[in-house]
Amino acid sequence: MIITQKKPLEEIMAMVGNAKTVAILGCGSCATACQTGGEAQINELKSALEATGKTVVGTAVADYCCMALGVKGKMKPLVAANPDCIICMSCGDGVQCAAKTAPNIPVYPSNNTMFLGEAARFGVWEEACHFCGECVLGQTGAVCPITQCAKSLVNGPCGGQKNGKCEVNPENDCAWIKIYNRLEATGQLDKLTRDRDDKGYEAVAYPRVITLRGKK
Ligand code: SF4
Ligand code: SF4
Repeated sequence: MIITQKKPLEEIMAMVGNAKTVAILGCGSCATACQTGGEAQINELKSALEATGKTVVGTAVADYCCMALGVKGKMKPLVAANPDCIICMSCGDGVQCAAKTAPNIPVYPSNNTMFLGEAARFGVWEEACHFCGECVLGQTGAVCPITQCAKSLVNGPCGGQKNGKCEVNPENDCAWIKIYNRLEATGQLDKLTRDRDDKGYEAVAYPRVITLRGKK
């Protein structure tokens, strides 16, 4: 799931500026789960905007703000209402997806996009993946060194760990101790001593496009 956090209301208001009319697009998927872009948050933002004299000319919730076709359909009436701006309550991808359907209207994000992670329990999300494009979990006991290590080290600990805790943030376990323990528990310790290719960052040359319709 893509984890998002609400921007402070003042920051949203600063983006909206002198706009008198606003439309709001929410996201029925990750942002709803994160409580940053569902119906309840749309209504909250709508009330806050109206309290400052703005007129909200329309609201909609796309099933997934990252699905271009669905977004286009939900944005159609919002764009037709010709607001001074549109606020998109999704991840950064959803905002960009929405903006493509509104070439002449400013589209603003209401959220900060934080990371790809898992819902550990209700209302608690843990960072899990940085989309490095060349997953090394097969060599690291399914513990991600890019996201779990404060320095994103891919070749063992930095030497600063103390009692299994990270020197950068002692509240966190050292990723490489976790990797060692996991490899030991699963009988794969030999992977630590095997030669490994350098991590190539060619795989993260932005912007990336993946297509199932032939090589692009
Ligand atoms: S190694 Fe890369 S792709 Fe795999 S979980 Fe970590 S960041 Fe994500
Ligand atoms: S102590 Fe461990 S988790 Fe922290 S930066 Fe060093 S190797 Fe990474």
